[in-house]
Amino acid sequence: MNSSSELKELLNKIDHRGYPAYKDTKGAYRFPDYILSIDHVQSDPFAPPSKLSILVSGGKAGFPTEYYDEKYKKTALEDLLIRIFHARVDAGEFRRHGSGKSGLILISRCRQEVLERSACRIDEKTGDVLIRIEVGFPARGRTIDSKELIKILFDVLPECVGKSLIYKALNTEKVRRTIELAQDQHYIRSRLEAMGLAAFVADGSILPRESGVSDRPMQNAVKFISPESMAVSFTLPNRGKLTGMGIKKGVNLIVGGGYHGKSTLLKALEVGVYNHIAGDGREFVITDSSAMKLRAEDGRSIKNADISLFINNLPNGKDTRSFYTEDASGSTSQAANVVEAAEAGSKLFLIDEDTSATNFMIRDELMQKVVHADSEPITPFIDRVRQIYEQYGISTIIVVGSCGSYFNKADCILQMEQYKPKDITEFAKNTAEEYLRGKADGSAGTEFHMSSCEDHRLSFNRCPGANKALLSGDRVKIKSNGLDSICINRETIDMRLVEQLVDPEQLTALGYILVYAEKNLFDKKSSLRTIADKLEKILETDGIASVCQNRVPANMAMPRRQEIFAMLNRYRGLNL
Ligand code: ADP
Ligand code: MG
Repeated sequence: MNSSSELKELLNKIDHRGYPAYKDTKGAYRFPDYILSIDHVQSDPFAPPSKLSILVSGGKAGFPTEYYDEKYKKTALEDLLIRIFHARVDAGEFRRHGSGKSGLILISRCRQEVLERSACRIDEKTGDVLIRIEVGFPARGRTIDSKELIKILFDVLPECVGKSLIYKALNTEKVRRTIELAQDQHYIRSRLEAMGLAAFVADGSILPRESGVSDRPMQNAVKFISPESMAVSFTLPNRGKLTGMGIKKGVNLIVGGGYHGKSTLLKALEVGVYNHIAGDGREFVITDSSAMKLRAEDGRSIKNADISLFINNLPNGKDTRSFYTEDASGSTSQAANVVEAAEAGSKLFLIDEDTSATNFMIRDELMQKVVHADSEPITPFIDRVRQIYEQYGISTIIVVGSCGSYFNKADCILQMEQYKPKDITEFAKNTAEEYLRGKADGSAGTEFHMSSCEDHRLSFNRCPGANKALLSGDRVKIKSNGLDSICINRETIDMRLVEQLVDPEQLTALGYILVYAEKNLFDKKSSLRTIADKLEKILETDGIASVCQNRVPANMAMPRRQEIFAMLNRYRGLNL
């Protein structure tokens, strides 16, 4: 390995030369406190910045072993280090100048969620800390400006590393609190199942966000407080007793007038599959990690999905046990989203009527009388929701502001009133019963049944083959476009309506995961489930970088198994 002074010499030598001479800097260099690797050098000042990594040995970094001896703690610590490093770079005196991306120093920007990222990896055995960053190698026009790069590599970075990756230089109290929060969150998450809960919302939580474009907590919001009848408590390892609302497994409704906070509660539950940072307001909103938000998604492609639980006898005679379309309707898309979520192993469905296809959710009595069941292909969700719980063990939390027919299907009915939840289960059920008894003709309230598939077995045996077209050409280009889409060469995967993706870096990771799966796992014999299991195992043991062939991008964040499925299901090139 070269020494840092050799790097400096080299840089001095190539000063004022043409930009490509920077390529010679590729390699690893020993600095006093760490090893700097220049993994990839950009081809010109306007290209994406160069990729660097910094490795601090465990002995030097000095983090207590008990802060990273379990996966969830390690992730919390890595997340914290990225945030500190980011803040350091921002706070530094260094002002960049030059052409193109000259002097940019980039590291992942973390948001409210705590996610595993390729930007930082702590080795659980040695305690080594690896950090991945991007640096725009400076130039004037297209001429190398070594002096500037020397400033970055020999002044700015050593200072950042010293103040963000070395334990004793940090605010150790803050580090401890971060790990303790992760521990408490993990404690609740790991106990939901045994307590028969689908989700937990702590008293005092702040659910609404600052604005539609800011994910920070709203100022002066009404704090969440559990109805007495639903209160449960945990004795957390660090924080002690914490009380809040337990949403039990089963069929749960959130009702209430418009603008009373129903969707806000559901949204908080959707992202409760992730841990949140201190001060977010949703630190202790903890949802079953497999929860899936399900909505209508007109226009998506569907490949070989068995949607016959909901849709049968289509007028064009299409087989709904193996349904294909390049342009789904509202109801077929939502039906596919439901069965695919079951296939992905989700144990909790989250549905908001605001974003659902009405004819998928409900068909009222009058319509049942007028349009005979034989000419209606759709068995609405309301007629399946109990079966989905009882037969498949999948709970639901549904926001229904407009449809009382769901009352007699529900185990629990929660009303949001001026942002305060009230348990109205008994009242709503009694009212519904009275209403039905009051109906004159006796037929009222009889349910609409599809007799054909009462004991419906969902088949999860879709086995994709490889799609050579995706990876043709010598270079595979993977790009993500915010939270909207993933592009792999010419293929675009639309992820806009997969609502539990919270960070663009997750989409980048999904792109790499797909390329990995196309290269290694699609063999026409393994089912999507088996493939997802394998991916999950690889990602779990070797981290997010394990799906990258050679160069590991600095900007990937871990998606869940559910979003891996969602991506595969929306990939139009999937060979099924
Ligand atoms: P609904 O789905 O019942 O129509 P929303 O959840 O969309 O209502 O909430 C309506 C508005 O109220 C939103 O602008 C939201 O930010 C705000 N809001 C939600 N919860 C609270 C709260 N606890 N305190 C203050 N404002 C809130
Ligand atoms: Mg709403």
